[in-house]
Amino acid sequence: MPLYRETDDNTENLLQALSSFQAESPLQVESQPQTENLPKTKSPRQAERPHQVESPRQETLDFEATKFEPYAETATQTMQPEISSAVKTTPKAVKDALSSARESLSRFHGCISAGDKHTVGLKTDGTVVAVGSNENGRCEVGNWRNIKAVCADDSDHTVGLKSDGTVIAIGWNKYGQCDTSDWRDIIAVSSGGHHTVGLKSDGTVIAAGSNRYGRCDTSNWQDIVAVSAGVSHTVGLKSNGTVVAVGNNDKGQCDVGNWLDIIAVSAGDIHTAGLKSDGTVVAVGFNGSDECNTYLWRDIVAVAAGFQHTVGLKKNGTVVAVGRNDKFQCEIRDWENIVSISAKGLHTVGLKSDGTVLSIGEYSSGLCDTSEWNGIGLPLTELIIERERAERDAQKKLEDENNQREQKQRLLEEEQRKSEEEKLRSERIRHFEEQQKQEEEYRIREEEERKKRAQQGLCEFCGGKFNLLGKCRNCGRIEK
Ligand SMILES: [Zn+2]
Repeated sequence: MPLYRETDDNTENLLQALSSFQAESPLQVESQPQTENLPKTKSPRQAERPHQVESPRQETLDFEATKFEPYAETATQTMQPEISSAVKTTPKAVKDALSSARESLSRFHGCISAGDKHTVGLKTDGTVVAVGSNENGRCEVGNWRNIKAVCADDSDHTVGLKSDGTVIAIGWNKYGQCDTSDWRDIIAVSSGGHHTVGLKSDGTVIAAGSNRYGRCDTSNWQDIVAVSAGVSHTVGLKSNGTVVAVGNNDKGQCDVGNWLDIIAVSAGDIHTAGLKSDGTVVAVGFNGSDECNTYLWRDIVAVAAGFQHTVGLKKNGTVVAVGRNDKFQCEIRDWENIVSISAKGLHTVGLKSDGTVLSIGEYSSGLCDTSEWNGIGLPLTELIIERERAERDAQKKLEDENNQREQKQRLLEEEQRKSEEEKLRSERIRHFEEQQKQEEEYRIREEEERKKRAQQGLCEFCGGKFNLLGKCRNCGRIEK
């Protein structure tokens, strides 16, 4: 069964091309789990506020979790605490372990985005849909193409990251928050209140819009792997798992300096949430609605911070939420098969594995009218690019290994050659010395022989006798 229920012909072709790739997709879910045995969820009216919405069905969910097994397995493998402690040996090892932990996070981040007054969804064909208030034209995204991630902001604008690394923005532009047309090499975007931030491929962060409270002062950030913009603050995740923040800190929402082992961040309006590599969530900032009380959460693979609520996606595809619930924005306990979440303002959205979108919370201007949406997800072109990249990486790894083996072989041969040369050379020297020695011995012997002959009155050169004139009869030499 394909990941998405409804597709047009072009998409169908792409889907076919991707069938093998999707078979490996850790987030794919085969079918809806049985729900008849599960207790009915409380109606929104019965909900208390503020409260903690933990799923009451953990026993039953173990059965559902098996459907997510490949994903759960991946997530578990990379999210065990012992891994993060075992790799504390070198900074590089820490980075590598955190990097592989981040790999296990939802690849669908950026496919849906809840704004304060509107909701945006990215379709698998790279186009974008939006519902909600269209004030300042923030929902006029119908002509957007080749988009790979979207973000709806806390106030009045919408941002799209294009496949070529440029950024498109529409809506309210009083502070220049939409002036992103000259941005290049962007790999992730986030829009907050009156500002927009972009993560560049070199790990630096660019920002546009209002700089009140210094929320755009990201120019000296380095080694950043993820960004999140809140209403008046901006948060950056570094590759070593620490977090930096600039902007308004009146509620302590920027007090993230002591966080460690973080693999994802989300800046809410006045609080900040961080997902740790062990699947727990930390949060700082305003806690008036218990929105920072995430300490009971386990097995989280994505986190989203809204106005005064926090939402966590569990690796079994269910969702937990804490905080303000006046618009029932935390009534997500019956959600399942979720692969990505987003929260802003007073509402929460969740992307299901079948490409549909659930939405709950503030409903004015129809910003929760996502029930008609389908085919939401990572663009298939991006999946193809991703697969090609993976294949290229694998190929390169293989080539590198071969090169290394060849290099090793060459070094070995070189060593052998040198050793043989050395052997030959010392052989020659030994031979030469032997010869010298023999010659010396011969010379000494000859000398002795000559002396002996001379003592016997013979020619010392050949041992011949001398004639009367003192001339050797044999060689003709004159006697000394
Ligand atoms: Zn002689």
